[in-house]
Order: sequence, then structure tokens, then C-alpha cells
Amino acid sequence: MKLHSPHAVARLRTARLARSTRPFLARGGPHGERCSGCRLILSHCLCDLRTVVQTRAAICLLMAEHETLKPSNTGWLIADVVPDTTAFGWARTEVDPALLTLLADPQWQPYVVFPGEFVAPERVTTQLLPEQSDMQSASNGRPGTLKRPLFILLDATWSEARKIFKKSPYLNHFPVLSLEPEQISRYRLRRSKRDDHLCTSEVAALCLNLAGDTLAAQTLEAYLDVFTEHYLCAKQQWKIQRDDALHQRLLELKMQAQASEQH
Ligand SMILES: [Zn+2]
Repeated sequence: MKLHSPHAVARLRTARLARSTRPFLARGGPHGERCSGCRLILSHCLCDLRTVVQTRAAICLLMAEHETLKPSNTGWLIADVVPDTTAFGWARTEVDPALLTLLADPQWQPYVVFPGEFVAPERVTTQLLPEQSDMQSASNGRPGTLKRPLFILLDATWSEARKIFKKSPYLNHFPVLSLEPEQISRYRLRRSKRDDHLCTSEVAALCLNLAGDTLAAQTLEAYLDVFTEHYLCAKQQWKIQRDDALHQRLLELKMQAQASEQH
């Protein structure tokens, strides 16, 4: 098994735990020791199923204060699958300079992913913009490369997400990518989801699909399904069926991802 160094969300969680005055159950819990790689109890560890897929688009997570501490947070899953994932803790009064540097980097075309109905219509797009080349590198004598999409996802509850959206002036000049209701309902039908709420990793999968990163999108969906199964079984202290259809699907995608890496 390949060992991974802690990804952006894991690092944010570690920093958050270090600031916490409450003795959080980071290592143990009522049901036993947790794996630091996937946050599940060791008997339900998911790490051998983690599948990394290279993408052209990148994901930037702006995470609400306690989101990193929730064992069910799905921003973590995005960082597991997509190596180009960055994560920042959001606070109203301060902004991480590294976030501003990232947003100013001309290789990216940032999109704030947020429902369009709450935003001035001229800012809203439901598709990716025609690709612009990175003029800064072009003017330095290098050929201008096409800007890569950078999806900014607000990883928070809905009311926190609204606050983050409203109170982050450094996001104001970026287009707002609004996922269309029909896209979402098609998604729900395909995945037989009943509730209205898409979790952060599902939103990321829809964005990656729009950007043409299909394998990463499919992998993220399959990985979420397997994570959810492990998470719920761990809660109930049920054994995991490692040969069921969900695991098979993820293993198929893992093989595809490994094959595409070798090309
Ligand atoms: Zn694990």
C-alpha cells in the first residue's frame, strides 16, 4: 500500500485540533481507536481503497470552523481523491495569505460554487467560461497555457455557507458557478438520492464532470458510497462486506485510474 502524506484537509484538521481546548476524541472514541488516514475506527479503515485521480481542474475548500472536526465531513474525501485540493479554514475577520496567493495565481480560473438564485445574475454562470489563456506567462515569452478551472467550494452548513459567501470580499470578483436544478435532479435520479441536500463531495463531483474530469468525478462518487457504508457500519458495529457492488465499482475505477497514470 502506498503511503500518502497528510493532505490539505488532514493538515487543517490537525491544526484545528491543536487549537482546541476540549480533549477531542481524535485517536479513540467509544468504539475504539481511529485511523488517522480515514478517521474511521481501525476495523472499518478505508485507506486501502483510497483512489487518487489526477485532474485538470482543482478544488479549493473554504471550510467552516468545526467542519474539519466532523468525522463525516466529505471535504476530506475530495482531498483523498484529487491531489490538487487546497483547504482553508474560514474566519470572518482574517484571511489566510496563502488563499489570496492561490486566487491571484494566473494559472487558475476560479469559480465560486454557489446557488445562483442568491447572486446578482450578471455574475452567475451554469457552465464553465470559454477557456482563457494565462496572459501573464504568455507575456513572459512562454506560450500562454489555458487557465485551469479552480472550483471554490464552501464546505459548511447552508447558513454558514451563506455567511462565508457574503462576508468574503476577496471572492466578489469571481464568477459564480451555479449548478442547475435539472443537473442536480438528474444526479439524484441516477444515484437514487431522495433528499435535497448534496454533500460537498457530490458538488465537487458535479463540478469535475463539467470540467471534463470524468474519471475523477465517478471515482469521487464511488468513494463517497463506500465511505458512507463504512461510516454507517462502524456506527452500528456491523462488519463490512468488502466484496459488495459498491466496493467492486470503486476497485474498477481504481484500476482505471492506475492504468491512466501509466500512460
Ligand atoms: Zn484508514
